[in-house]
Order: sequence, then structure tokens, then C-alpha cells
Amino acid sequence: MKKIIIAIDGHSSTGKSTLARALGEALGYKYISTGDMYRAVTLYFLRHGVPLDDPEAVRQALSQIRLEFETGPNGNRILMNGQDVQDEIRSMEVADMVSQVAAIPEVRREMVRQQRLIGRDKGVVMDGRDIGTVVFPDAELKIFLTASPEVRARRRYEELRAQGMDVSLDEVRRNIEARDRIDSTREDSPLRMADDAVLIDNSKLTPQEQLNRALALARARIEDC
Ligand code: C5P
Repeated sequence: MKKIIIAIDGHSSTGKSTLARALGEALGYKYISTGDMYRAVTLYFLRHGVPLDDPEAVRQALSQIRLEFETGPNGNRILMNGQDVQDEIRSMEVADMVSQVAAIPEVRREMVRQQRLIGRDKGVVMDGRDIGTVVFPDAELKIFLTASPEVRARRRYEELRAQGMDVSLDEVRRNIEARDRIDSTREDSPLRMADDAVLIDNSKLTPQEQLNRALALARARIEDC
């Protein structure tokens, strides 16, 4: 059966990676959360004090970063230079800086290059902000996820608390609003819905309902190919 590329874009904390993983598992496809890549780069920049306004320093730092994904029983984990940083990249420290790092053209160019390599044989579900618009503009299926800001803040808050992080709902809400603002207004590849994307507002959908809807779309596109 022919394999397709599924692009999932949308606002912060809309459950894009949960959907990407569930779809990937249901279809036997690879699934990649590109936000994890931008977060890992941010962690490296924080650890090494890379000045964001110095393109040469940014380029040099990027050349030192090797990213890989490893699939375990609880989903994909990202490795940075061989070290598992999956938990560390979820910290508020990283969340507070990632959208600034992701707005740097050199960073985007390198991440997009790596993402296209990962998807070159198709059979992949990739989630992010610019997958259907920039990384794979010809993706056979594009989904744009959104949900109300209150629902998104509450979900991310509960997820972080469950991981034992000491954050307040207000702090999480402010971070989500700030990231939405930076992601949608940056010059290089701003977050926007592709003209041919299917919009899903999941404020009132259960994960299973959302998966059923997305799977039906995916199966229809695969049959069309
Ligand atoms: O998906 P997640 O919320 O983990 O992404 C973290 C941040 O990475 C986003 O707020 C955005 O600034 C950036 N990002 C991006 N382009 C992507 C994926 C993520 O700019 N394709």
C-alpha cells in the first residue's frame, strides 16, 4: 500500500504530538514531534550560553548538535549528542526560550533540512508549526489542530504537574500565550493554517474521537493514492 506524509500543525498544547503518535502507531508510520527538535536545540543553547543575536555563534553551535529519535515503550525520546534529553526539554526554562530560538532563520533552515531527510521515504506523521506550509507543502494529508486557550493551558498544566513540576496554571497560560504570539508573528515561517489543511478544534473531543476522525481522513487519502 502506498505511504503518505501526514502533517499536523497547530497552536501550542493542542495535543499535536499525542495525535501524531496515535496515528503513527495505528498506521505503522514513523512519528516525529518537531517541537522536540527545537526544544533540544534550545537546551543546548541554554547550556552553552549561545548568544541568539550572533548568527556565527548560532551556526557554530548548530554544527555541534546531533539529534536522533529512539522509540521506546512510552513513545519517542529525543537524544542530543547521544544523551536522552526528553524530560529536560519539557522544563519551563526551555519553554520560555524555545520560540525565540525557533524564530532564528539559521535554526529553522537546519531543522527543516533534517525533517525533510526523516520524511524522504514517506510513511511519516510529523507535527509542528510549519510542516504543512514549509517542510512538506505537498503532504497528502494536512491537519491543523486548535483548542480554546483555557483548555490548552489546563491540559499542559496537568501534564506538567503529573511529571512533578512545580508550576502554576497562570505561568503555563502566560507561556502558551507568549509562544502563540511569537510563533504566529515571526517573519520566517510563521504559524498559519495551510489552505488545504483540515481544521480540527479538539476543545470538546476526547483523544479517541479525535484519533477516529484523523484516521478516517488518513485512510481515505491513502486509498486515493
Ligand atoms: O510543539 P512544541 O510546543 O513542543 O514546540 C515548542 C516550540 O517550538 C513552539 O512554541 C515553536 O516556537 C517551536 N516550533 C516551531 N516549528 C515547529 C515546531 C515547533 O517553530 N515545526
